[in-house]
Amino acid sequence: MTNEYKVGANMDYDVIVIGGGPSGLMAAIAAGEKGAKVLLIDKGDKLGRKLAISGGGRCNVTNRLPIEEIIKHLPGNGKFLYSAFSIFSNEDIIKFFEKLGIELKEEDHGRMFPVSNKAQSVVDALLIQLEKLHVRIFKNSPVAKVIYENGHVSAVLLKDGQQLSTNSVVIAVGGKSVPHTGSTGDGYAWAEQAGHTITELFPTEVPVTSSEPFIKNKSLQGLSLRDIELSVLNPKGKPIISHRMDMIFTHFGLSGPAVLRCSQFVVKAMKKWKLTEVTMSLDSLPDKKEEEVFQEIIKHIKNEPKKSIKNTLKGLVPERYLLFLLEFNGIDLSEQGGTISNEKIRSFSKSCKQFPIKVNGTLPLEKAFVTGGGVSVKEIEPQTMGSKLMNGLYFCGEILDVHGYTGGYNITSALVTGRLAGTNAALSAKMKA
Ligand SMILES: Cc1cc2nc3c(=O)[nH]c(=O)nc-3n(C[C@H](O)[C@H](O)[C@H](O)COP(=O)(O)OP(=O)(O)OC[C@H]3O[C@@H](n4cnc5c(N)ncnc54)[C@H](O)[C@@H]3O)c2cc1C
Repeated sequence: MTNEYKVGANMDYDVIVIGGGPSGLMAAIAAGEKGAKVLLIDKGDKLGRKLAISGGGRCNVTNRLPIEEIIKHLPGNGKFLYSAFSIFSNEDIIKFFEKLGIELKEEDHGRMFPVSNKAQSVVDALLIQLEKLHVRIFKNSPVAKVIYENGHVSAVLLKDGQQLSTNSVVIAVGGKSVPHTGSTGDGYAWAEQAGHTITELFPTEVPVTSSEPFIKNKSLQGLSLRDIELSVLNPKGKPIISHRMDMIFTHFGLSGPAVLRCSQFVVKAMKKWKLTEVTMSLDSLPDKKEEEVFQEIIKHIKNEPKKSIKNTLKGLVPERYLLFLLEFNGIDLSEQGGTISNEKIRSFSKSCKQFPIKVNGTLPLEKAFVTGGGVSVKEIEPQTMGSKLMNGLYFCGEILDVHGYTGGYNITSALVTGRLAGTNAALSAKMKA
């Protein structure tokens, strides 16, 4: 590694990266690769804490779907990343990790994991690379503020009073979700001090709450439904969004992948139409039309009219859900199929296809997997992640108003924006030096 330039006159560092999550780790590596003198600061005693718990603790490093699909899976300003992806893409992330000796494997929905299934192996590889590039690391060092002078960043002030001068600052402190990992929203104030707009923060990828009687009396608590289609309905009863994945009923409402993906649309619908409740619709048989379900049930009943309805319908949907839907439609579980009215069978078939669940919100931002909203992307250069308002200032990762579904999309966004921020922070420091 050749040093491309010397640190600017009297500056402690060329680049200071604040935050050691995936975006900050990548930014520090990218800046180090450009030969900059880099300091990475984190307030915790471990780096990459959220990265290490992603993807169920196996570290969902990225996703291998085509770029168009990745952008679609980033419903919060994914399009802002088109330029970034043309410079450093998900395939580049995969090559990057392979070069670091981390072999990756593809799982369902394009999700990429380390072959070792060990999140720590990914974090360790990044740390070794930082060491190779001589990036200085300060742990247990919360940053108090970023100092600006005459339209340019000038220094970073630590909570312990230490002030470190620098040409460039990369703010990579994440959002406000799961604060025990260190992401407590500290960066928003520093962005505002530089003149940036913070769009409204909201929980996304978060379980939803409901006060439906079957939630309150816990009759479905713990029940998982596989491969269902869940929709969020507008006030006219039309779906705003549908997701086909798994879900689970909990003691407070609904959770699981389909619910997490729908959650931001619940939040947005409640806000847009000033609602206290939004209806979700659960299709437990997404491969069949309602009429098909009805005709099949009628056929089974005709074949064995004396059999109890719960035995006739065994296997149609998971048993606990079947019994619940029968009761919900006023059908006695032990009633012989042949004695049940067509009208009741119709309404049961409808429940299998469009069971309405009223939901009244989500768990709070702190419990969300991802923070929606953040530093407005309108004020960020899409090719560099540089601030349009303050020279030498860069943003990357979840602090930006970019958010995606879980499945490696947020981490991809963090690594791609981190790459650009680190590279360009080093280049701009070089120009200033
Ligand atoms: C349980 C869980 C599972 C997830 N699973 C997935 C998944 O499968 N796929 C996916 O795409 N995304 C997933 N995510 C989201 C993903 O992990 C985040 O989007 C990603 O980690 C954001 O990266 P980041 O670098 O922006 O910030 P973070 O990872 O939040 O890192 C920010 C860092 O900044 C440090 N910091 C904060 N304030 C200061 C300060 N004042 N001074 C110094 N340091 C500071 C923190 O200590 C922290 O280390 C998951 C999140 C959670 C909580």
